[in-house]
Amino acid sequence: MRIILLGSPGAGKGTQAARISAEFCIPKISTGDILRQAVQEKTPLGLIAKQVIDSGKLVSDDLVIDLIQTRITQSDCQNGFLFDGFPRTIPQAEALDKLLIDAHLQLDFVIQIDVPDTEIIKRMSGRLMHPASGRVYHLETCPPKQPGKDDMTGEPLVLREDDKEETVKKRLMIYHEQTEPLLAYYQQKEKTAKQLKFAVVSGVNHADQVYAKIKAVLNQQ
Ligand code: AMP
Repeated sequence: MRIILLGSPGAGKGTQAARISAEFCIPKISTGDILRQAVQEKTPLGLIAKQVIDSGKLVSDDLVIDLIQTRITQSDCQNGFLFDGFPRTIPQAEALDKLLIDAHLQLDFVIQIDVPDTEIIKRMSGRLMHPASGRVYHLETCPPKQPGKDDMTGEPLVLREDDKEETVKKRLMIYHEQTEPLLAYYQQKEKTAKQLKFAVVSGVNHADQVYAKIKAVLNQQ
């Protein structure tokens, strides 16, 4: 099964992607996680990506497409994969189409998790992350057992530079300009690609309810 999860930053893609990945036994490929890991390891890619990520802008299409091309040829992707945070622009979606055609593969699902901007701003201003694992907490909705510490390792949690309110607003603007056109792109594609199912799921409810709706879509196959 090959799936794309779309949605604005903070819509809950990471949380839902982890559940889908575990239940349907397909790897979750998050370009954000790959880039953040490169930043932490201070690799050449990480050094390029850090400033762009911290400023809330998008990393260049070429760079991200290269990452994806390498990642989807790895052996754990043989039975499918789930993209979280990719594609984010029309050129990325077009490049993905080409990669899939060349590999004789097809997309099965594109699912948009829909959350209004006002809710996103509220959510992201309480979000804390454990940098090494990418585990995400929220001061109100999913607090760590000990304040400021990761539940599994006890290591300190941080506010992501790109989760600060001004940066969140900028990320939302970029989302509307550059990523939202993908909804029309995949809606159109659904008309011509017989196996492709496009669905919009409201992401406003509790994560369990959102997951139940996503699962219902995935089980329609
Ligand atoms: P995320 O964790 O998916 O919100 O990604 C964090 C940041 O990584 C984004 O704000 C971008 O700077 C960068 N990023 C992640 N995925 C992409 C992508 N597909 N294209 C361009 N930049 C990306």
